[in-house]
Amino acid sequence: MKAVYVEQTGGVENLKYADLPKPSPGAGQALVKIVASGVNYIDVYFRKGVYPAPPPIVLGSEGAGTVEAVGPDVTNVAAGDRVAYAMARGSYAEYAVVPAWQLVKIPASVDFQTGAAAMLQGMTAHYLTHSTYPLKPGDSCLIHAAAGGTGRLIVQMAKMLGAHVVGTVGTEEKAKQAKDCGADEVIIYTKEDFTAKAKGMHVVYDSVGQSTFMKSLDCLRPRGMMVSFGNASGPVPDFAPLILSQKGSLYLTRPSLANYSSTADELDWRANDVLNWIGQGKLRLHIHKVYPLADAAEAHRDLESRKTTGKLLLSVS
Ligand code: NDP
Repeated sequence: MKAVYVEQTGGVENLKYADLPKPSPGAGQALVKIVASGVNYIDVYFRKGVYPAPPPIVLGSEGAGTVEAVGPDVTNVAAGDRVAYAMARGSYAEYAVVPAWQLVKIPASVDFQTGAAAMLQGMTAHYLTHSTYPLKPGDSCLIHAAAGGTGRLIVQMAKMLGAHVVGTVGTEEKAKQAKDCGADEVIIYTKEDFTAKAKGMHVVYDSVGQSTFMKSLDCLRPRGMMVSFGNASGPVPDFAPLILSQKGSLYLTRPSLANYSSTADELDWRANDVLNWIGQGKLRLHIHKVYPLADAAEAHRDLESRKTTGKLLLSVS
């Protein structure tokens, strides 16, 4: 089967598009014929070696397609089911073996591209706004990269929950898009200091990391919650907990979707909310571009160059 993988971690030039053996499902696993694969920042981290894995590292942690076969002890899905999933690596390929409990059946009304686009960023926005810091009416939140794939979904869910949303973005065009998603205020943080405008926040959702982390702490009210959930500008350097006390007895967490979708019930709750809201028109996805699987390197280049807004997908079959 065709797959995109790295033997040696590094730049996009290390991505290989070549044949690998088609995997077969073991106990508790399903073989999915991938139709669409989501591109996420986590793929960049695996490619670069920020998140280690044994080679060959087939990239992609999100996909949608049809179950072709199941291994022993699988009861929740069967051959022919239309499914989507996140947080099982290997979706930049024609076939992927996925733990069956992680598969969500998608309704006939949801096409494969939408299924693939919704899962990872949608469930992330869900856990951040509903579980890590459950927003309630009147709360104020700061959301960095608010026009990005994950950011724009956090903005929309925060508004659904009645919060006041301040977003940051890199450009004027992205500012328009963040407003369109419902952000009450948008700061272009490449031009202005966001700490001047974003003050007294209950929570900061920070996926940018190194370049925003310390300033984000200054935007919080005493006992506010700093949610550092990504490293788009690089990992946050070492940090003394005493700073949290000095800046107002702040809370800090560094969450991962894996720990917020660790049971079938929790995963179904999040995925079904996201898919239902999309179906009802309450949550809008924006597909930035669909690339052929062979052009995964171009998708990575675009994502890392901050040129994209919304979701990047690979069309696999
Ligand atoms: P995005 O579509 O948000 O793309 C990243 C955005 O980050 C860019 O468009 C850019 O927006 C902003 N950015 C700021 N500084 C930089 C920089 N130096 N280099 C590149 N981008 C920068 O990507 P995703 O939605 O896929 O992911 C967003 C973040 O969320 C990532 O950090 C990812 O790791 C994290 N994440 C974490 C999860 C978790 O469970 N912990 C799960 C899912 C995602 P702008 O130009 O507006 O600044």
